[in-house]
Amino acid sequence: VLTIEHTKRWMEEIEKRMLEHKDQLTEFDQAIGDGDHGINMARGFHEVVAKINHVTYDSVSDVLKSAAMTLMAKVGGASGPLYGTAFLKMSMAMQGKEVNEEVFCQAMKDAVDGIHTRGKAEFGEKTLYDVWKQVADFLELEEVAEWQGLLEVCQATIEDTRELVATKGRASYLKERSKGHVDPGSMSSFYIFEALVEVID
Ligand code: ADP
Ligand code: MG
Ligand code: MG
Repeated sequence: VLTIEHTKRWMEEIEKRMLEHKDQLTEFDQAIGDGDHGINMARGFHEVVAKINHVTYDSVSDVLKSAAMTLMAKVGGASGPLYGTAFLKMSMAMQGKEVNEEVFCQAMKDAVDGIHTRGKAEFGEKTLYDVWKQVADFLELEEVAEWQGLLEVCQATIEDTRELVATKGRASYLKERSKGHVDPGSMSSFYIFEALVEVID
């Protein structure tokens, strides 16, 4: 399902979306955080694309490893290390393998476990973990990856974060007042998966 070329395009499509929605992500983060999520994502994925475009890669795993390292190094906020960990775990699960649906599904599970270990958030704590967890569970349930269905699952999960009280990350400082706002990291995660669906076959 995923070739080196797909993976590079995936990163480019993410960058495009993060730039397009930079102001929206910033607004979401202004409501319940420190207002830098749009900048973090736009800059982070810009650096990722700059990096992967001047290196020649032998595998999908190596492209994702490069992306992971760049995000960890260049994004200051909580989201950088978390997305970095997710892509690094994916990269590790794909090492030496052709990325078919089974491998991708396992890589998603490992990415979710990585986010979980790193961020210590449980499902329903109003973080990007909510979206990643739902996507991995959905892929595991489906026999053939239903990419469009996956986006619907994502969107529903993002909407669910609105009524949750944040108990992890900066938004947790607001306690009850975090209610009524969508989690910024869940929104940026949607763009990551929307970009994936755009390039994958
Ligand atoms: P910061 O909060 O450091 O400014 P960002 O604004 O870039 O970083 O990212 C905020 C997003 O990171 C939140 O919307 C949330 O989805 C996610 N996040 C924060 N802390 C955690 C955590 N412990 N586990 C999972 N996700 C988290
Ligand atoms: Mg922030
Ligand atoms: Mg910050």
